[in-house]
Amino acid sequence: MDIVILAVVIALVVVGVISGFVVTSRRKKQRPPKAPSSTPTITTPPAEPHVGDEAGPSREESRRTIEEVGLPEATATPPAVEDPVVAAPPVAIEVPEPSAGRLVRLRARLARSQNTLGKGLLTLLSREHLDEETWEEIEDTLLTADVGVAPTHELVERLRERVRVLGTRTPDELRSLLREELLALLRTDFDRAVKTESGLDTPGVMMVVGVNGTGKTTTTGKLARVLVADGRSVVLGAADTFRAAAADQLQTWGERVGARTVRGPEGGDPASIAFDAVKEGIAEGADVVLIDTAGRLHTKTGLMDELGKVKRVVEKHGPLDEVLLVLDATTGQNGLVQARVFAEVVDITGIVLTKMDGTAKGGIVIAVQRELGVPVKLIGLGEGADDLAPFEPEAFVDALIGG
Ligand code: GDP
Repeated sequence: MDIVILAVVIALVVVGVISGFVVTSRRKKQRPPKAPSSTPTITTPPAEPHVGDEAGPSREESRRTIEEVGLPEATATPPAVEDPVVAAPPVAIEVPEPSAGRLVRLRARLARSQNTLGKGLLTLLSREHLDEETWEEIEDTLLTADVGVAPTHELVERLRERVRVLGTRTPDELRSLLREELLALLRTDFDRAVKTESGLDTPGVMMVVGVNGTGKTTTTGKLARVLVADGRSVVLGAADTFRAAAADQLQTWGERVGARTVRGPEGGDPASIAFDAVKEGIAEGADVVLIDTAGRLHTKTGLMDELGKVKRVVEKHGPLDEVLLVLDATTGQNGLVQARVFAEVVDITGIVLTKMDGTAKGGIVIAVQRELGVPVKLIGLGEGADDLAPFEPEAFVDALIGG
């Protein structure tokens, strides 16, 4: 009897060991193959996150992997790697789509967000009797779309006059009348080309300014893609040292299109990074240096000190060729207040309106151009890498009222 019990116990132990082995080996098989870079990442974690980290496991994941495999951590320690950035897997360089005609591609997105304005105006103008109440409704529609008080009054006056002269109106006549008047307000005479050339032997230098959160760093990255797509070589300057992730974010954008990013420590001096970026651009013989800046609206003096210093220091190499102000189109009046403050601090040469895909208030284009007297040069229509388009008034109006 004892022998039988002993045999049963032995059998159970054997079965237990075998099934444990099967579970362990199955778990090993299920684990996806490890990226070759994982080992250096484990042993020499970068002081701060670097681009390429996403491709390999995180430190937590790596440690878990070691424990599962059952290796003591010490045996997994490879020789020290001097530069973890170099050890990171190379990022595949993308070929962004050219900037010309992007607005046409993105027109559907623009039409979706701005349709209410255009369609609303056309419907009101099509009413048989255009009485005072209707004109007030037209005015309200324009004000709601952030066109601004003065441009709204001007537009309504012009429309009243032209509708009176026209007499009976066909929908086509109304559409072309409204098209002409909106285009006049949007100013087709502005030069909207983003200035990328210095006219000297040195790279064109562009600075991107704006309040944090408006999409400034994203826009700088997207702009680098636009420039590369249009055949220019770019060096990026990560002078937004205030927001912790900004430099990493910019570097990622740069690496995707093969543009080098000059960066410094978090909280470092933005002016010296901007200076170094231009120096690097000159040394590399790059076409354009694009500098992202921090936009803390703590006080106007603080902002003026910061941006003023960046500008002064950069201009030791030569004049700035373009200063782009990034504004979030969804912020309405707030955006206009920001525009005013920045315009007092630096000479803005162009405006970028971001998040136009997320607002029906496209009239801000008219209001902000009027406010600053400088053109909207680019608009952001989404979070995608190529969702930044040169602003073209005709394509914009056609998206509004259907062309
Ligand atoms: P920064 O602090 O001004 O540098 O802002 P970021 O560049 O980090 O952008 C803030 C957020 O706005 C991010 O989630 C971006 O993806 C988003 N964003 C930027 N531009 C656009 C745009 O045109 N459309 C949409 N929908 N989101 C955008």
